[in-house]
Amino acid sequence: MQNIDNYDFSGKKAIIRVDFNVPLDKNFNITDDTRIRAALPTIKKIIEKGGAVILMSHLGRPKDGPEEKFSLKHIINHLSELLGKKVDFANDCIGQQAKEKAAGLKSGDVLLLENLRFYKEETKGDEAFAKKLAELADVYVNDAFGTAHRAHASTTIIAKFFPNDKMFGYVIENELKNIDSMLKNAKKPFTAIMGGAKVSSKISIIQKLLPVVDNLVIGGGMTYTFVKAQGGKIGNSMVEEDKLDTALELIELAKQNNVTLHLAVDAVCADDFSNDANTYTGDVKEIKDGWMGLDIGPETVKKFKEVIANAKTVLWNGPVGVFEMEKFEKGTKAIAEAVVEATKKGAFTLIGGGDSVAAINKYGLADQVSYVSTGGGALLEYMEGKELPGIKAIRE
Ligand code: AMP
Repeated sequence: MQNIDNYDFSGKKAIIRVDFNVPLDKNFNITDDTRIRAALPTIKKIIEKGGAVILMSHLGRPKDGPEEKFSLKHIINHLSELLGKKVDFANDCIGQQAKEKAAGLKSGDVLLLENLRFYKEETKGDEAFAKKLAELADVYVNDAFGTAHRAHASTTIIAKFFPNDKMFGYVIENELKNIDSMLKNAKKPFTAIMGGAKVSSKISIIQKLLPVVDNLVIGGGMTYTFVKAQGGKIGNSMVEEDKLDTALELIELAKQNNVTLHLAVDAVCADDFSNDANTYTGDVKEIKDGWMGLDIGPETVKKFKEVIANAKTVLWNGPVGVFEMEKFEKGTKAIAEAVVEATKKGAFTLIGGGDSVAAINKYGLADQVSYVSTGGGALLEYMEGKELPGIKAIRE
């Protein structure tokens, strides 16, 4: 298959779909540049091989046309610094200026296009819009894993205009390699830790994982739907009443697959969803009326840590408590540390899904695990076995 390493870029213009959807503060400073750094190897390699680079991305969710706060011009300086060369900017991703700037690119030059989502044609997957983007370049590279599950103009539709000149960048290539090898050649025991808020958003991934994992650790807001389904008292804890049966089905499915299900035994309970709330730690099945479980308790931490320590493969998706609040972050922090410990002992550990990635970054441990995925929804859909449009468009 065509890839960055075997393709001849010399004298060619490559349009790369990157994921520069980075968080900005009020003054438009980048607060986390992980995604920009992730794209550097692809960009640098194409330049090194004699190509010119046109970068396109979305930023935020502009509603109706251009908005200052979602302009990609805010990242030009930082990108130039990281690349060690001045990056030019077209203040419209299509149109006369973009055409002229693209036409004038010489080998080694880098041009960044303005936010694709200033056009609603982008998310609609409009073919005429995709064609205009395609006309700027000779070759198409998709390196935005985070949007690979969307059939947008720049992630999917554009590929048809490059039938013989399209490929993945290193970000997507690495994602697929790491996820595939985890799901297909996982060393046992394989432990999946699923956290986050809702059962409903994790049902299909849990169903998909049960045949391949040995242990399923459940934490976070989901816990209480499982506890209530089994007759526990959960006070004011988060619960999905319409998913109680689903929780019981998942418990049954785990049994059928010989998967050990690890649920919390104790919880840090609060009288308010706030860092200033009063708290107590107690039995997860006997939460007092008016109180809600916002983190796993110390007994559970001990139990979960043991399971993780014995694993040879670990997948972690979703925080096990409201880690954004200091009072309820201990559990998530302990999980992050346990995953790091397992990695040190030789386990393959993959962290994926927006909030667990935010957590591992918060504790500065991202470089101490095997792999941190750049995809949230895309990662889950890929693991569920769905064919992602952005992946299919390159492969077919
Ligand atoms: P998700 O996007 O489904 O992975 O959910 C992540 C969110 O779940 C985070 O913002 C956490 O604060 C939240 N969360 C984790 N545990 C709980 C809990 N026990 N109660 C309410 N929210 C929680």
